[in-house]
Amino acid sequence: MSNAQYFLEATYLIASCLFVLGLKGLSHPDTARRGMIMAAAGMSAAVLGTLFHPDIHNYIYIAIGLILGSCIGIPMAMVPMTAMPQRTALSHAFGAMAASMVGIAEYVIHGPTLGGVKMGALGLEVMLGSLTVTGSLIAAAKLQELMRGTPIMFKGQQIVNLGLFIVMIGSFITWLINPAVSVYFYTMVGCAFVFGVMLVIPIGAADMPVVMSLLNSYAGLSSAATGFVLGNNVLIIAGTLDGFSGFILSILMCRAMNRSITNVLFGGFGSAVSVETAVSGSMREVSVDDVAVQLAYASQVVFVPGYGMATAQAQHACRELGNLLEERGIAVKYAIHPVAGRMPGHMNVLLAEANVPYSSLYEMEQINPEMPQTDVAVVIGANDVVNPDARDNPKSLIAGMPIIEVDKAKSVVVLKRGKGKGFSGLENPLFFKSVTGMLYGDAKTSLTNLAQAVQKV
Ligand code: NAP
Repeated sequence: MSNAQYFLEATYLIASCLFVLGLKGLSHPDTARRGMIMAAAGMSAAVLGTLFHPDIHNYIYIAIGLILGSCIGIPMAMVPMTAMPQRTALSHAFGAMAASMVGIAEYVIHGPTLGGVKMGALGLEVMLGSLTVTGSLIAAAKLQELMRGTPIMFKGQQIVNLGLFIVMIGSFITWLINPAVSVYFYTMVGCAFVFGVMLVIPIGAADMPVVMSLLNSYAGLSSAATGFVLGNNVLIIAGTLDGFSGFILSILMCRAMNRSITNVLFGGFGSAVSVETAVSGSMREVSVDDVAVQLAYASQVVFVPGYGMATAQAQHACRELGNLLEERGIAVKYAIHPVAGRMPGHMNVLLAEANVPYSSLYEMEQINPEMPQTDVAVVIGANDVVNPDARDNPKSLIAGMPIIEVDKAKSVVVLKRGKGKGFSGLENPLFFKSVTGMLYGDAKTSLTNLAQAVQKV
């Protein structure tokens, strides 16, 4: 091996170790920031090592790619936290597009001379990559509300999907048997692009987090297959880590949303017709002063943040109110639903930014048994994750999704701007219950007003 190759393999080894350590760090909020830095350092090492690859003779195209990529990547990283899911979907689309294009280029350059195993990996790479490109673009369009968020269905959709899947896999197998006949290869690529669209359009926006992590997993597996084709160890390792961690996250999110993974894989969920519980009565509006008195004389207060806290950027105001209550000897807890907000861990990130100690954060399973002893549950811009219909109405679109059971608390205060619905577009019977008071207004303003009012009690 030449010195350059030694350097390459050494950087790949360091990068792989950093990826594993980074992933381990990301498994806990305490170590997540360090994990992220390690993973980024790993990626830098992998890129640096690759620049010394003996097969690279001309750096001009690489430099152009680097400049173009940076020009696109830097503004993409500047989007607000609330737009992060659609930004992530776009990143998946770009990553998968890169993997597919490498695969197609390899086939065009080397043709059937690559050999059976590499051809299999190449086909898999291009197929998974292509369907991830279009699937991720549709997911991004739905999340950005450029497309209708509700499931897009038509008659015979399942049959069309099955037919498309059979033609795609059939073309893949036929091409493996006859690798010189490129028409099978391009038929597979075309079907994969269309299949990606078909996979995501019938999925309701509320189920999108599962789809996102599944597409992440496909993009990772596609990159791993690229690694096999190019004989690149770091791509195999990073792609496999990404593929399987994405898949495990999909399973965990499926559990959190009570969806079966088979339904996700076959794009069948989100298709049920939702029957909403008829709500009667009206919402009871409460004033800042009323809520302040309730809070000031409580023994235990649980804050339940949701997407509205993110849009209002109300995490600091929430922490300040929490501090004031704690100073009065009140037990203050923060309940975290796994899919609150718009991405996994969204609420953890916001509350960590506001220096809420991890020991005050409670997962759904931990906090639900405490609800009957909670004097006031303060819902901050959350809706779907506290919707009792998910528990009580088997025909609801979100039926079976575990919720934070604030309706079991002695009293509930909901902070939201008006009568806006949640991500699923469903009405929330919680807002009509006698135990619930609605404090209308932007969450940050309401929390700031509450903090001032509590000090006067
Ligand atoms: P949600 O159901 O989307 O409800 C958010 C509520 O916040 C709305 O009803 C809105 O009502 C209120 N709101 C918006 N801006 C506000 C502001 N400035 N101040 C006060 N209130 C404000 O949120 P969620 O309960 O967190 O549920 C998350 C949903 O997103 C779930 O359906 C989940 O499946 C889905 N999802 C999650 C992820 C993930 O990974 N976490 C990813 C994609 C989708 P008003 O308009 O009346 O104010």
